[in-house]
Amino acid sequence: MDDSSLASARERDAADPLSDCRERFFLPDGVYMDGNSLGLLSEDAEAALDSVVKEWRDLAIRGWTDADPDWFTYGERLGDRVAPLVGAGGEEVVIANSTTVNIHTLFGTFYDPARGEKVVVDALDFPTDHYAIRAQLRARGVDPDEALRVVESRDGRTVAREDVVDAIDDDVGLVFLPSVLYRSGQLFGIEAITEAAHESGALAGFDLAHSVGVVPHHLSDAGVDFAVWCHYKYLNAGPGAIAGLYVNERHFGVTPALAGWWGNDKGTQFEMSMTYQPAQSAGAFQIGTIPVLAAAPLDGALDVLADAGGVEAAREKSLALTDYLIDLVDERLPDCEVGTPRAHAERGGHVAVEHPEAARVSEALRDRGVVVDYRPPNVVRVCPAPLYTRFEDVWRVVDEIRTVLDERAYESYSMGGGVT
Ligand SMILES: *Cc1c(COP(=O)(O)O)cnc(C)c1O
Repeated sequence: MDDSSLASARERDAADPLSDCRERFFLPDGVYMDGNSLGLLSEDAEAALDSVVKEWRDLAIRGWTDADPDWFTYGERLGDRVAPLVGAGGEEVVIANSTTVNIHTLFGTFYDPARGEKVVVDALDFPTDHYAIRAQLRARGVDPDEALRVVESRDGRTVAREDVVDAIDDDVGLVFLPSVLYRSGQLFGIEAITEAAHESGALAGFDLAHSVGVVPHHLSDAGVDFAVWCHYKYLNAGPGAIAGLYVNERHFGVTPALAGWWGNDKGTQFEMSMTYQPAQSAGAFQIGTIPVLAAAPLDGALDVLADAGGVEAAREKSLALTDYLIDLVDERLPDCEVGTPRAHAERGGHVAVEHPEAARVSEALRDRGVVVDYRPPNVVRVCPAPLYTRFEDVWRVVDEIRTVLDERAYESYSMGGGVT
């Protein structure tokens, strides 16, 4: 059978061990390829949220102790459930705050000019990471333009590992990089970068927002010092859901840059002492009262991933989907380019399909029921999230792009957005 036929896509779906999982999600009409911006709601996540609302109604203040799981240690308990996804011990992970806030507190804690004044980041990072790092440097009286060593990209898409490693020398105190670049989908080698940082006496931190739940990590084994991530992309915990963080156990006991009572040792928190006593775990990096309603859907969403076989199974299907997508782009969209690395070891969960008319093509696709997103200057980001995307959906998105280009349907959209 022709490998680029719809029938072939359907055969792949028939052989997919994760195909049932999709039925647990509320799927919008059309084709949803934006799960790396906002993952979809599952029945499980909805039920977990409903259950906390009910506990609030029935238990009121007693929910902090009598709910199941109790709200007082909710951040720690859900941290235990997320820890295997990033390869960490339960005590090394907590769910707390937002990703940006977690960058503030972790960077602020672990940046120590005595170790080295310079900070290695890359030029293709998600902007909020740089905003937070610069703010923390300024707060310390350090000029960010002096301290930041920004590794440039040679091709505008990816950052070469040797360029990262070359940037790390004795002047560097901290390396902070993403696991996966949000635009091209390049996956970094966390192990090699951490090793290079440690050899130079620097610490290594990572932002896993674009990989948690779709790429397995081994943070403890790699000796990574700290990491942050969000749960509303591949982990489907809902818009603005509580974020996660990891701190290696060798750092337990440090005082966080943004200390708050929720990070105090749980045994003494209600003694209400004026002296902060950090929890001897990643839990110390919680700040204020946990937003239980923004955390509850995660509890249900994690059940879906567990039943699917965990993050390893999700990764296997994700690679099969992105392999298939890349093959179809090669075959049917010769006027587009794939901006994502082809090697599995360097690919996250989405594919950057590049075309000079990417902005208008994305808009035309949306009006045809295909949800992708556009990232300037020329990327249509296509994310076949493995828990609810079929091979047939991948086939459809490529087919729709082919039609939009052939019919020049994008020409009726203005450059600034909207139909002309
Ligand atoms: C999505 C994303 C964020 C989002 O941060 P919030 O504080 O949740 O808004 C941060 N960093 C990266 C790399 C991301 O992909």
